Amino acid sequence: MARRKKIYEGKAKILYEGPEPGTIVQYFKDDATAFNAEKKDVIDGKGVLNNRLSEFFMTGLNQIGVPTHFIRRLNMREQLVRNCEIVPLEVIVRNYAAGTMSKRLGIAEGTQLPRPIVEYCYKDDSLGDPLVTEEHIAAFGWASQQDMDDILSLALRVNDFMSGVMLAVGIRLVDFKIETGRVFDGDFQRLIVADEISPDSCRLWDIETGQKLDKDVFRRDLGNLTDAYSEVARRLGVLPQSNVTKPTLIN
Ligand code: 5GP
Repeated sequence: MARRKKIYEGKAKILYEGPEPGTIVQYFKDDATAFNAEKKDVIDGKGVLNNRLSEFFMTGLNQIGVPTHFIRRLNMREQLVRNCEIVPLEVIVRNYAAGTMSKRLGIAEGTQLPRPIVEYCYKDDSLGDPLVTEEHIAAFGWASQQDMDDILSLALRVNDFMSGVMLAVGIRLVDFKIETGRVFDGDFQRLIVADEISPDSCRLWDIETGQKLDKDVFRRDLGNLTDAYSEVARRLGVLPQSNVTKPTLIN
């Protein structure tokens, strides 16, 4: 059996060298962390659900022409992705006030924002991923002006896609975080959506009841996280076949 080379281990995923040049295997762990890893747990099945859900969202984005790193799912916990140079920014898009925006600006959680608001945080766990402005990004050279134009356009397209997909299954996309990466095609560089898109990195509320179906369930001790993620997967029709309740005839 060949041993794979581990490239990086993060809080929720492990990256291994991929089978072909320019590829990476992304392994989804069951580990859950919050508040910069001050709160930790292992949640049975979370990795499997996030692997499936990220596959579902990234495949849809690829299909509508929003480039992502996703190539194909390999198994229950792993997917093959394109290697890229990660831009050290967390890109957050908000449709409704929640979380740190509500705290920072004193806006009640759930207030609809006048338009989607995009924020940038500098990716550095030791600093707690601080909010930064485009001035910081330009001055410290984390991304060029062209990168920033492309990142904004990607973020808003992801928002439109994700909002629509969620709305169709009765879920409100409150906010989400994406990461982006640079890939090089000959003399050209372009930006793609990287990392993952899953209930770990989105706020998802049931439209009717307001029930939280995302990582806030873990952050705020609101119940069983796998149940919440399974509900999202069930509504989207992406649960592994064995977990899908078969339709039954009534009368
Ligand atoms: P907030 O800034 O309110 O904590 O988060 C805004 C949105 O971005 C939420 O959907 C949250 O899940 C996501 N987010 C922000 N920072 C991180 C992070 O470091 N990791 C993950 N997975 N999601 C994040």
